[in-house]
Amino acid sequence: MANQTHLGDLEVVSSPFLTVLNDLYSKYKTLNEGTLANYIPELTKVNPELFSICLVTVDGHTHEVGDYQQLFTIQSISKVFTYGLALEDHGRDYILTRVGVEPTGDAFNAIMLDEQSKRPYNPMVNAGAIATTSLIKGSGPTERLNRVLEMFQRYTGHDAFVDISVFTSERSTGHRNRAMAHLMLNFGMIDKNIEEALDLYFQQCAVMVNCQDLAVMAATLANKGTNPITGEQAVDSRYIKDILSVMYTCGMYNFAGEWAYTVGIPAKSGVCGGIMAVVPHKMGIGVFSPLLDVRGNSVRGVKVCEELSQQLGLHLFECSTNESRSG
Ligand code: GLU
Repeated sequence: MANQTHLGDLEVVSSPFLTVLNDLYSKYKTLNEGTLANYIPELTKVNPELFSICLVTVDGHTHEVGDYQQLFTIQSISKVFTYGLALEDHGRDYILTRVGVEPTGDAFNAIMLDEQSKRPYNPMVNAGAIATTSLIKGSGPTERLNRVLEMFQRYTGHDAFVDISVFTSERSTGHRNRAMAHLMLNFGMIDKNIEEALDLYFQQCAVMVNCQDLAVMAATLANKGTNPITGEQAVDSRYIKDILSVMYTCGMYNFAGEWAYTVGIPAKSGVCGGIMAVVPHKMGIGVFSPLLDVRGNSVRGVKVCEELSQQLGLHLFECSTNESRSG
């Protein structure tokens, strides 16, 4: 059963995975702590009961439980993918002049830049993500949006769409993000057309995905950038280590250090209630449950990932055996 599952042997573990997922689903279905994100008005309309967990291995096996086909907007998880696209467009050296790789320990929406360099701290906080998105190449807003949608399509294996209500809702209320863009404009860190950059940022955040998509996207990152279901290369493999490094150190808001310590795998969460986690060379994990803790992470999502990591021995620095892990 679950305690025999070890990831060295992917072909023998498909049924134990499902048992583990079913057990975690039943255990945490009754946990109803947390609140819906409400600073984007449309997000308050989401059903707080929704819950799903999905694993996709790098050899394309899928294991899922709960509302895994329920669509939601990807929000902050999108930052991972536009960072990859910006790296492909400009290369690592240039992107580093525009966005740092330093965790902040502050909230995702803090209005601050590095004192010395005036760069946003990293691409996983809003300022860094807006700067990253502003660097996506294209002849105009439509081409840039299409490139972002095509990128999501490579990761998920199907067409990508923007939820217009959520996009409009954030666009008309996103004054903090607008303030960050102005601050970066003030220091010459972002192109002067900030409304266009913000639109694209709000659009990428409003791309619709389900829990299965999150797991496939994570599995694509785990699989050196190749989607394990379609076989398509979604991102140049040379940027995987950049993407996973910033996810590992900065992906879980101001919980990133504790997450690295307890769960120990690169991950990104979003105020939609999604968490996407990557077990390099092995699998991708998606969890969706919209009730959030004070830092903006899904309450059930964090619990599920902590236990999954423990039970399956996923922590990147794990050296102990199944029997000795619990202490
Ligand atoms: N669109 C959201 C914002 O910029 C994303 C935040 C998040 O998911 O952390 O505020």
